[in-house]
Amino acid sequence: MLPTVAIVGRPNVGKSTLFNRLVGKKLALVDDQPGVTRDRREGEAHLLGLEFTIIDTAGYEDEDPHSLPGRMRMQTQAAVENCDVALFMVDARAGITPLDEEIARWLREGDAPVILVANKAEGKSTEAGVMEAFVLGLGEPIPFSAEHGQGLADLFQALLPHL
Ligand code: GDP
Ligand code: MG
Repeated sequence: MLPTVAIVGRPNVGKSTLFNRLVGKKLALVDDQPGVTRDRREGEAHLLGLEFTIIDTAGYEDEDPHSLPGRMRMQTQAAVENCDVALFMVDARAGITPLDEEIARWLREGDAPVILVANKAEGKSTEAGVMEAFVLGLGEPIPFSAEHGQGLADLFQALLPHL
């Protein structure tokens, strides 16, 4: 059985974009609307010779925004419980939000090793956004661009000890 990596993070940070890049098929929906993907998806990921099962968590779209954190918590915990490593994605352009901080808290309380990825970090003036992710207390964020395929070698290096 392949090791499992779960991509977690609040809606619209780029989880499905990374999933699609690593799986190589359009298995996950990507949309400008936050949280358009309905369910959790699994695929076989390939990254520079590494093979693993990857889980894309999603499906947070909701009529009632007040129930979002609760649903996210259940989704995130279910995905993280059975994974070898959690890939926690934040948005380097948007900066760290209260929801990011809450997810970080759940992950710090859990057992899974966490790799912190600061996505949308292509181009200039995203350094501050990447650095901001240090406040989450989950180690050094990897500057990343799921859309442009930047940071893949660093992600590989970070995953290697856990798979
Ligand atoms: P999810 O809700 O976390 O699954 O996020 P999606 O993968 O659906 O992406 C949300 C939006 O962010 C889409 O418009 C993507 O095109 C965009 N996006 C994803 N990755 C990047 C990136 O590396 N850079 C930029 N600038 N935008 C990105
Ligand atoms: Mg998605």
